[in-house]
Amino acid sequence: MNGRAVCNRLALIGMGLIGSSIARAARAQGAAGSIIATARSAATRRRVAELGLADQVVESNAAAVEGADLVIVCVPVGACGAVAAEFSSHLAPGAIVSDVGSVKGAVLREVTPHIPPGVHFVPAHPVAGTENSGPDAGFAELFVGRWCILTPPDAADSAAVGRLKAFWSRLGANVETMSAEHHDLVLGITSHLPHLIAYTIVGTADELREVTRSEVLQFSAGGFRDFTRIAASDPTMWRDVFLANKDAVLEMLGRFNEDLATLTRAIRRGDGETLFEQFTRTRAIRRGIIEIGQDSAAPDFGRPHPDLPHRPLARPYSAE
Ligand code: NAP
Repeated sequence: MNGRAVCNRLALIGMGLIGSSIARAARAQGAAGSIIATARSAATRRRVAELGLADQVVESNAAAVEGADLVIVCVPVGACGAVAAEFSSHLAPGAIVSDVGSVKGAVLREVTPHIPPGVHFVPAHPVAGTENSGPDAGFAELFVGRWCILTPPDAADSAAVGRLKAFWSRLGANVETMSAEHHDLVLGITSHLPHLIAYTIVGTADELREVTRSEVLQFSAGGFRDFTRIAASDPTMWRDVFLANKDAVLEMLGRFNEDLATLTRAIRRGDGETLFEQFTRTRAIRRGIIEIGQDSAAPDFGRPHPDLPHRPLARPYSAE
């Protein structure tokens, strides 16, 4: 517990990995006076109640937002607009509505029309996650030392932005503000494209299984194992990310294909110099990430990370 609550009544819509981690972290840090939660299915709502993650678990999105001064929508990107339409007429005057979606432009477009006058919409994206889903997968430390990016529209109320910043800081995140468009471009290369590559390579290996079946599993301590972890990320969430961030992902994919063609040519021509230069450059990038504290240099052989004794290392995006 860490000083006064940042909001009186926090409503969480969607209680999977991210929603349940916010609930746990808000509790641990005393960030909310009370927490009210809902999810789509009765099974998830029951589990949330069993785990004691909220003060109250309700059946509908509309009931969840009644009287809440901070509402955070934690559902897949493609469902945000429909969820906002359901609760819109039940929002309290002066409430802040936010989300955690991995794509910001689409959420801004789809949610904004449902925000009534006097309510503040400040989209956000905590760049932290794992490949696991559901209320059991969450943990209070998920956001500690990770970035949370806010993408307030130009006309956003600065006091509302300030309160959301204070909320995420209380949960341990470093908070950054940028435009939704810029966010989608940056995350397109740092998160969305790597996921697409992981989904592709694991699929390709699977198609080769006649030749590789046992060997792929047996030798997967190499780079392949890291790809399988990323490719185990939630299919609904990632389908929505690629549909919602189509333009930025296609732009990044175009550049990636050009660079891949360069390396392909270097391998075909036996051009070791080009390969060596590229690998030297990328090694420096990895070292830079470790220096700014966004990952650890410690070896990870699939065991829990030593920095977090009871949990796997929180990765930027299912790594977010
Ligand atoms: P998750 O574990 O699959 O949980 C999704 C939750 O949303 C579930 O509780 C689900 O309910 C609920 N839900 C889905 N559709 C709904 C609807 N129409 N109305 C109400 N509830 C609904 O997903 P997650 O990983 O927490 O991801 C949630 C959001 O966080 C996504 O927008 C994602 O882009 C973003 N995000 C994810 C990560 C990550 O690494 N996973 C990181 C940062 C941000 P049921 O359980 O009843 O189906």
